[in-house]
Amino acid sequence: MFRQDDQLNHRSYYEATALRDAAKPALQGRITTDVCVVGGGLAGLSAALELAQRGYSVALLEARRIGWGASGRNGGQIIAGYACDNDVFEQALGAEGAQTAWQMSIEAIQLIRQRIDTYQIDCDFTPGHLTVSTRPKKTDALRAGFELLSQRYHYPHLTFIEPGQIRDWIDSPRYHAAIFDSQSGHLHPLKYTLGLAAAAEGHGVQLFEHSPVTHLQGGEPATISTSQGAVQARFVVLAGNVYLGKLAPSIESRIMPVGTYIIATEPLTPAQADTLIKDRVAVCDNNFVLDYFRTTRDHRMLFGGRVSYSTLTPANLPEVMRGNMLQTFPQLHDTPVAYCWGGFVDISMNRAPDFGRLTPNIYYLQGFSGHGLAVAGLAGRLATEAIAGQAERFDLMARIRHRPFPGGKLLRTPALVLGMWYYGLRDRL
Ligand SMILES: Cc1cc2nc3c(=O)[nH]c(=O)nc-3n(C[C@H](O)[C@H](O)[C@H](O)COP(=O)(O)OP(=O)(O)OC[C@H]3O[C@@H](n4cnc5c(N)ncnc54)[C@H](O)[C@@H]3O)c2cc1C
Repeated sequence: MFRQDDQLNHRSYYEATALRDAAKPALQGRITTDVCVVGGGLAGLSAALELAQRGYSVALLEARRIGWGASGRNGGQIIAGYACDNDVFEQALGAEGAQTAWQMSIEAIQLIRQRIDTYQIDCDFTPGHLTVSTRPKKTDALRAGFELLSQRYHYPHLTFIEPGQIRDWIDSPRYHAAIFDSQSGHLHPLKYTLGLAAAAEGHGVQLFEHSPVTHLQGGEPATISTSQGAVQARFVVLAGNVYLGKLAPSIESRIMPVGTYIIATEPLTPAQADTLIKDRVAVCDNNFVLDYFRTTRDHRMLFGGRVSYSTLTPANLPEVMRGNMLQTFPQLHDTPVAYCWGGFVDISMNRAPDFGRLTPNIYYLQGFSGHGLAVAGLAGRLATEAIAGQAERFDLMARIRHRPFPGGKLLRTPALVLGMWYYGLRDRL
């Protein structure tokens, strides 16, 4: 666990506005199941739900509370594609494999919408997403991306917003052009995550909270131990984001914990909120260190960005974040900030998801690189397919090679800071 991680979640708008049930019991004693899932975020819950739907008995162990990690804290932006560009998939998987990966990212969005409908999850879903550029050079990149997705990937849901039209969409002087995607959108991620947990429970999944897994013994069955109990399971799914540590050291070195932060203002009037962003869609820019923002169902501006590569919370965080927001929306200068929080994303070297097996029956899902709200749901589905003997799609993603961050545990943070500093500088030039 990283220093200050609990404080980071403490003042979250989501925790303040979602209704949590009483805590689930901690694991006590020994139980036996078909599958043990480690991690109660979207990846783990999605796997648990899909497995239970297929008739597997499932126990899910969460160290803290369901949705305590990134899944309950994120920007709520459901975005097609992945954190990396499609050429990472083209190089690793060939043209056809890259097309399949892209289609799976669209399936990931549809999966969220289906689950909201099927399980009646009340989570403020709002359709529509804008990717915006801050400068003409970034608009060239945006346009190239638009053409690639529309033509080579046959994705029909995009509209290019030209520089002359951007102010019709966002009441900000900061942006130059945009791509609008009608299929992507946004939601309240903690409400969605808790809804998924309820759905999984409804299908018979045993959920255990306050049950950190301390030891994993491979074999068939595998033994997954906590301080007060153990699960014997034919299969294990590790979905612990940046928190697995010593439990899986061979994969831990392939991801970096990177902090990202969000503020939410006091509520605006509905009319004010309507004028800021047309149709209340979600927005993120195409800079390397990006800003992402949207308004909430209760008319607040929720503004995210700023990153930390040291796992320490930046000083004066609410003020710094407010400064970022005011650069975009100076008209909010009198609107107080009500919440400020953050969390860690699991960045992989190439920003592509990192799925695979530690042993034939121990699966892992990581490396969402800040773009996992939808993709983590897909990851759970792919792991389920693989456990059920249909491993083609899981194995396609597992073919992407991932390297450890250079410098080992001690030096990888400074190396990453240097790299990020360089890309951050390029964003500003
Ligand atoms: C501030 C922020 C903003 C973001 N914004 C967006 C966005 O707008 N759109 C987007 O697509 N993505 C976004 N992301 C990324 C997205 O939230 C994640 O990729 C996704 O939620 C990852 O889900 P997960 O299940 O892998 O991890 P998590 O939700 O972090 O869940 C992992 C869980 O595993 C548990 N765990 C770990 N180790 C153990 C153990 N040993 N025993 C038991 N339990 C354990 C943890 O306690 C944790 O609850 C954002 C992330 C952050 C932090």
